[in-house]
Amino acid sequence: MLSPWTRGRRILVTGGAGFLGSHLCERLLAQRNHVVCLDSFQTGTLRNVAHLCQNSRFSIIEHDVSIPFTGEFDEIYNLACPASPPHYQADPVQTTRTSVLGAMHLLDLAHRCNARIFQASTSEVYGDPHVHPQPESYCGNVNPIGPRSCYDEGKRCAETLFFDYHRCYSVRIKVARIFNTYGPRMRPDDGRVVSNFIVQALQGSDITIYGEGNQTRSFCYVDDLIDGFIRLMESSGHATGPINLGNPAEFTIRQLADLVIELTGSRSRIIYQPLPTDDPQQRRPDISQAEALLDWKPSVPLKAGLMKTIGYFDALLRKTDATVLE
Ligand code: NAD
Ligand code: UDP
Repeated sequence: MLSPWTRGRRILVTGGAGFLGSHLCERLLAQRNHVVCLDSFQTGTLRNVAHLCQNSRFSIIEHDVSIPFTGEFDEIYNLACPASPPHYQADPVQTTRTSVLGAMHLLDLAHRCNARIFQASTSEVYGDPHVHPQPESYCGNVNPIGPRSCYDEGKRCAETLFFDYHRCYSVRIKVARIFNTYGPRMRPDDGRVVSNFIVQALQGSDITIYGEGNQTRSFCYVDDLIDGFIRLMESSGHATGPINLGNPAEFTIRQLADLVIELTGSRSRIIYQPLPTDDPQQRRPDISQAEALLDWKPSVPLKAGLMKTIGYFDALLRKTDATVLE
């Protein structure tokens, strides 16, 4: 049953051609909304949304969110920003521009349209946390000048802007702090751990653990996360967040490597490479707020989500057409 609130709304999804954005566009279209996917294609691809292009309620605009943009919308989901460390560190100044200027321009747009606006924030606002698991009240342990700072501090500043626009101009905001999420439509060269390990296992190349593999992450399957996005956007006005969205089941990176090898039946070896600077040692969301306010918790266990993701990459890598991997 569709909520009347979401039926036939005009919705802008920035970063809509990326991994999460493409799943979100798909879900919003299935709810019979009109969806504009805005993307600079820095890390996103047309391939992710090609199957939506026949839908008359879907359109794509190539644009950089750090440059102002106009239109009339009921809702804005701001997902534009590369999320993988090698990609966001490749042009760190652009990453900060995307996060900070992008947030400001989109908040101006939301203010003018009186639209609800959702921000894809991140568990990276907690940095290398000293509190475990991380509740929303934890202010974090972030290095402001390291190689990850363009992303972490950019997202922190974006949250600041969201709450200041809410307090000063009554903009209706919804801020989600997303923990590591994986699934189909990640790029094979995305660089994040789940896609790296699966692609390495399927290709029989070495599986690269950074550090000793004792660091932990909590992995959420994409379908669960998108459900959380929509529940948050549809929640009552006072539920601004920030709210943690992620799967609290915590694994070491070594456990993840072993599981991927088991599920793919791969003969790949595990090799150890240096741990990147400021790599967080542990991470697990406290999702009690999401459970209480949104009646949300993830339902896909890691093994089941990995099987679906492995199926996606297996099919992708089997295609001989080189353009598929562009
Ligand atoms: P992604 O890299 O697949 O998608 C990001 C999209 O934003 C891409 O399509 C890219 O081309 C687009 N983009 C980048 N800069 C842009 C700009 N200046 N203007 C317009 N478009 C731009 O990453 P993702 O995993 O889909 O992440 C989506 C959002 O969710 C990001 O904001 C990310 O910070 C946030 N997030 C994701 C995760 C996760 O685990 N996937 C975790 C925390 C936060
Ligand atoms: N990682 C790894 N091998 C890889 C890619 C990542 O061991 O090929 C590690 C990385 O050092 C980090 C964890 O896996 O400790 C998660 O990395 P990812 O880039 O996926 O996400 P983030 O660090 O942003 O949480």
